[in-house]
Amino acid sequence: MPLWVSKGMLKTVKFGGSSVAGADQFRKVKAIVESDPSRRIVVVSAAGKRFPDDHKLTDLLYLCHAHLQYGVSCDEIFADIRSRFLSIRDELGLSSDIGMELDALRSRLNKDFSVDELVSRGEYFTSRLMAEYLGYVFVDAADCVFFNFEGQIDREQTDAALKEALEKYGRIVIPGFYGRLPSGKIKVMSRGGSDISGALAAAATESDIYENWTDVSGILMADPRIVENPRSIAHITYSELRELAFMGASVLHEESILPVREKGIPLNIRNTNCPDHPGTMIVDKVEDEAEQARFLTGVTGRRGFQVLTVHRHDMNLSRTLSRALAIFDRYHINVEHITLGLDSFALVASASSLGENLYEILSDMKKECHAEDIEVRDNIALVAAVGRKMSARLGTSGEIFNALGMNGVNIRTIAQGSDELSIIIGVDNSDYETAVRVLYEGFAG
Ligand code: ASP
Repeated sequence: MPLWVSKGMLKTVKFGGSSVAGADQFRKVKAIVESDPSRRIVVVSAAGKRFPDDHKLTDLLYLCHAHLQYGVSCDEIFADIRSRFLSIRDELGLSSDIGMELDALRSRLNKDFSVDELVSRGEYFTSRLMAEYLGYVFVDAADCVFFNFEGQIDREQTDAALKEALEKYGRIVIPGFYGRLPSGKIKVMSRGGSDISGALAAAATESDIYENWTDVSGILMADPRIVENPRSIAHITYSELRELAFMGASVLHEESILPVREKGIPLNIRNTNCPDHPGTMIVDKVEDEAEQARFLTGVTGRRGFQVLTVHRHDMNLSRTLSRALAIFDRYHINVEHITLGLDSFALVASASSLGENLYEILSDMKKECHAEDIEVRDNIALVAAVGRKMSARLGTSGEIFNALGMNGVNIRTIAQGSDELSIIIGVDNSDYETAVRVLYEGFAG
């Protein structure tokens, strides 16, 4: 085993599409990678948007495939894709012969060309350029990320191949987002899948940290469209992140968390455009003393729910509730929250999932639950205050309700997550933004 494999820190660093959108971004990536010799595994997305109206290469490649399907010429789009790659190469003074490879690809394109293979070329060519620019060895994801017959990642085979590639070459660049099926064909993951590739590489190589470089300085404590300049979260646990993501905050591809979480590898979200900012560290357990005072980690939520409250005196709660849940299940509707009273219970579901079935559901519930009355409340938003220390702090809920009340927000439902990581409050859709602001301003500390 070469010496470098067994010594020192090891970091897997993944750069998202906006971090590799053009030559200038490539320069920033190089500075980041070179500033820390332990950044030896680099996972790269396809070049993304350079400016707001620009197109991601992945989108252009999907469009190219759609043109082929409909028998419309894709020459113009392909030329655009080609020139994006070549301009990065030329601006950086690289010598790679990707022009020839792109021409060969163009000549093979027809109606039956695999969409997965075509779309994966975004990551493939971006990584080829990055490998040459960094002086790292390019390792094709088709040779180190494997799917099984069911289309799931074959962890054992993937782990072994990634580990071997690192041991053999020491410093590697791997394209994200795709891998190979047992048939030898290329398969892409769901959109944003390079996050997963990065996590697989970090887990396989037992990296000390998985850095996910993007264009924001970590996860924000609240939606910046609602709260002006929200602070970013310094430390968050994997469980809190799940709560935040479940209620609407989107940062990372969800599946990307599992491989690193299993191995206890911290995940650090960083900003390529602001490399000195420490970003957000996602860990199993937060030890940082400085974090002790604050109990709110983040606030998030979603609009568009309905609350169905079933009233019945002297009911057998478990029987009546289980019947109500069976009805929801029959209509394939997910219940997001349940709140219980003595002679009533309330079920919260998204209005779009209830849709046209609402009246049939109400009639079934009336019959099967022997409900005296069912109240339907529309236009409800759920706001989640997420924080690992909320449960340990006395009077938290009271303070939250008080702050909302003082600001004229009427609380319609309340549910505390059973793991006590979140308090979820139902308010009118029209009060949603105020509620988020009140929680952030009152408790972000
Ligand atoms: N390039 C792919 C996408 O745009 C995958 C990724 O960036 O992670 O979804």
